[in-house]
Amino acid sequence: MTAIVGDKIMQNWAEKDLEYIWHPCSQMKDYETLAPIVIEKGEGVYLFDENGKRYVDVISSWWCNLLGHCNPHISDAVKAQIDNLEHVIFANFTHKQAIMLCERLTNILPKGLCKFNFTDNGSSAIEAAMKISFQYHAQTGNPQKIKFMALTDAYHGETIGALSVGDCDLYTKLYKPILMDIIKVQAPDCFRCPYGKCRENCECECFEQAEKMFEKYGDETCAMLVEPLLQGSAGMKVYPPLYLKKLRKLCDKFNVHLLADEIATGFGRTGKMFAFDWAEVSPDIMCLSKGLTGGYMPCAIVATTPKIYDAFYDEYSTGKAFMHSHTYSGNPMACSAANAVLDLLEDGEILKKANENAVYFNQKIREKFLSHKNVGEVRSIGLINAIELVKNKDTKEPFESKLRIGYQIYKKALDKGVILRPLGNVIYFNPPLIIERKDMDFVIDVAYESMCEILS
Ligand SMILES: *Cc1c(COP(=O)(O)O)cnc(C)c1O
Repeated sequence: MTAIVGDKIMQNWAEKDLEYIWHPCSQMKDYETLAPIVIEKGEGVYLFDENGKRYVDVISSWWCNLLGHCNPHISDAVKAQIDNLEHVIFANFTHKQAIMLCERLTNILPKGLCKFNFTDNGSSAIEAAMKISFQYHAQTGNPQKIKFMALTDAYHGETIGALSVGDCDLYTKLYKPILMDIIKVQAPDCFRCPYGKCRENCECECFEQAEKMFEKYGDETCAMLVEPLLQGSAGMKVYPPLYLKKLRKLCDKFNVHLLADEIATGFGRTGKMFAFDWAEVSPDIMCLSKGLTGGYMPCAIVATTPKIYDAFYDEYSTGKAFMHSHTYSGNPMACSAANAVLDLLEDGEILKKANENAVYFNQKIREKFLSHKNVGEVRSIGLINAIELVKNKDTKEPFESKLRIGYQIYKKALDKGVILRPLGNVIYFNPPLIIERKDMDFVIDVAYESMCEILS
């Protein structure tokens, strides 16, 4: 395991890793042919491995790195915090970083969201949000509301509750016997629209699917969960804001909470601060994580309305409190990172530049990829761009998943210094907002070459 070169002890870190570590979302046997890459350093959109090889992190390290690795402003904020207060119990105690963060979020979130419950990861924020919705209805005279609705193809996290409201077979199928019984609404599918429309000019005809389910189950439902505008894990499926507008009305009609999972879409990813801003309506409950701390620290927030908050506010003896906690709720270092992110985002300049670059990025990707025989669609929102690969362009017939087309392209691109990590047959780019055009050009070229090597 160790070799001595001169007076330096060289470790084979990758081998040692495999002796101990069970990596997330991985078939560990795959690591026999593709060893874990030992990252030493991050800087902006780049990661550097132990041999100094550079990778462009065009997936923002699982979509959380918002403003570049080792961003000097965020790093300084966390460094300052760590010598002051690292953590404190958040029941009955508080600290200024959390208070400031909530006040600032109130100013940028969709109107009405101004009460904040902290957790420490996206899945647990979803779980907390579901419990809040259920308890709200139980305490406001609607104990029959015990069901949740969610879209097909949804992804809301990996814990049992979050997995239940999700619908990506790869993650959920095996566990179905132990999952909650969820009402599934057929999601928009703009690439293979069953109504023969396209997302640029449809009237969300597919919304009748939601109407049908609300008619049938609305009275027993507490909340409808959505990934607004972008079903990320499903393959970066993009649908129009009109769908959310209609959903807002429908939820009001049936006294169902509209629960927005903005874990992936929040903080500028879709070109506006939050995806719901495109629809100009507010959800009742919103979950935030990922970009919240710029990818620095685990942190998540459930934001909700005074109406919901007030249904829990009473004498202790009434038993109406939300008796839910996570040890690291409201961690001060995480909050300091989140405040530093807002320092950088608040004046809108970064988002403005990202949106200008997004036009360039999308145009270049379309020019490069669209004519390829296996490219079914290029779709985009904000800086996020996805390329859906198909076996047959005319019929849109997908590649069989066992061919692992995406994974093969991933390996080729890694060799060339780009981290793509496709979702099935969908190659996507979801870079930090600060990516520059020369890096966009580079990742497009590498992705294209890698794709052509596999699909020549
Ligand atoms: C990542 C993600 C989650 C889960 O967050 P974790 O922190 O990984 O538990 C939930 N919903 C969406 C839309 C996500 O992208």
